[in-house]
Amino acid sequence: MIQIKPMRTVVLWILAAGLTFWGFFTLGCEVAKAATSSGGLTMGSGTNSSTEDSEGVFPVKARVSWGDGLGAGRGHQGQDLMADCRRKIVAAKAGRVRVIDYQASGAGNYVVVRGTDSKFDYVYMHMIKPPKVETGQRVAAGQVLGYVGSTGRSSACHLHFEMWTRPGWYQGGDVSDPTPYLKSWKRKS
Ligand SMILES: [Zn+2]
Repeated sequence: MIQIKPMRTVVLWILAAGLTFWGFFTLGCEVAKAATSSGGLTMGSGTNSSTEDSEGVFPVKARVSWGDGLGAGRGHQGQDLMADCRRKIVAAKAGRVRVIDYQASGAGNYVVVRGTDSKFDYVYMHMIKPPKVETGQRVAAGQVLGYVGSTGRSSACHLHFEMWTRPGWYQGGDVSDPTPYLKSWKRKS
């Protein structure tokens, strides 16, 4: 008699714990679903250029494998596209070259292009040599910007690609997830 009561309590406890866990589990799924759908939404939620932003040229003219994406547990601000060194990097969108620089501790040889029919700045990093374009120059979508490299903080040849909202890259804009755009451009290439 004395042992039945605690047993019942234990069973109830396990049931309650199980239900709670299930609750959290399903909640987690909902959160994940919400995150996914809002991630998809970002792509179409442009104020005036949602269609234009989904049109673009995949920026590496080579076979690529997808490396780290946004976040990646280390505050990674873009998408890595692993490819052989010296492959062409082309402008994903038409725009005007805003910045060309070299950063030994990070970006290596990089270029920032402000999109013309777009609400983004596009950033291409780790080029093997300084970019083939000049500050202020207009570039067309598909135009060669430089070549895949591993300059700066990089351990393998790849293009690190970022997209920033207005007012732009390190001018008060925000990092935007480039991966859905890249996937859409890749499908169309
Ligand atoms: Zn990267």
